[in-house]
Amino acid sequence: MTVMSKFDLTGKVAVVTGGNGGIGEALAHALAEAGAAVAIVARRVDKAETVAAAIREAGGQAMAVGADVTDVDAIEPMLDSIESELGPIDIFVNNAGICEHKPALDVTPEGWRQIFDVNVHGLWNCCQAVGRRMAQRGSGNIINVGSISAEIVNRPQMQPAYNASKAAVHQLTKSLAAEWAPSGIRVNAIAPGYVGTEMAEVDNPKFKPYWIDDAPMQRAATPEELGPSIVYLASEASSFMTGSILKIDGGYTLW
Ligand code: NAD
Repeated sequence: MTVMSKFDLTGKVAVVTGGNGGIGEALAHALAEAGAAVAIVARRVDKAETVAAAIREAGGQAMAVGADVTDVDAIEPMLDSIESELGPIDIFVNNAGICEHKPALDVTPEGWRQIFDVNVHGLWNCCQAVGRRMAQRGSGNIINVGSISAEIVNRPQMQPAYNASKAAVHQLTKSLAAEWAPSGIRVNAIAPGYVGTEMAEVDNPKFKPYWIDDAPMQRAATPEELGPSIVYLASEASSFMTGSILKIDGGYTLW
């Protein structure tokens, strides 16, 4: 096996939650370009289908599935429909996530709950359900989308619920990695810095002095820049990595 062939995902089945836009869309394209058949999971199946169609148009294999990751009853049917069309799931990317900018004293119980419902409970629902199937088969690869917010306090915006939720994602990644290693399942996470998507208004003058001007590389990432890292973690190229949090932040957390 050559070094480059270790990155090849031909014959693998991958799933990306929240794959209908932003980072998830770019990760879905990257996995497909590396050879995987990709299922795009989103609450709006029509939007997921647009991404799946673009992947197919580019010569890849993709399907769209409608599911809300916070709905625990929707997870098994979602996995069933993917496995019946594409085959057993090898790679599962937990990308779906939401954020709220609000000082701690203004956070409502509902706002707090919503962030944890998607970022932690939704991710957990998917990890447990797909992990059960992977454990039965003795192999699998889970990649969680964490954040630098798991370890720093972002500014100028306050986002306490989001920060705490991403810290939970990083620690859950490590917990599952240790527990499931004997079952042949690897679990890793990426921790991106600022990436230009709907979630992070990187061109907003309110944020630019802090997020961009004050950062070592003085720019945000494009979603596409995260693609190669996902292919790395999803492939044999990272065969001895589990429980790792791969930081991709342009040096933002160095200062
Ligand atoms: P985005 O808002 O463009 O995308 C989020 C995706 O999650 C959307 O496709 C949305 O439909 C989906 N989603 C939300 N709730 C869902 C649910 N209940 N069920 C299924 N899908 C759901 O934001 P993004 O920037 O692309 O974020 C993707 C991931 O990257 C998130 O986990 C986010 O926390 C993380 N992240 C983003 C940045 C950034 O700067 N943009 C930095 C670090 C981490």
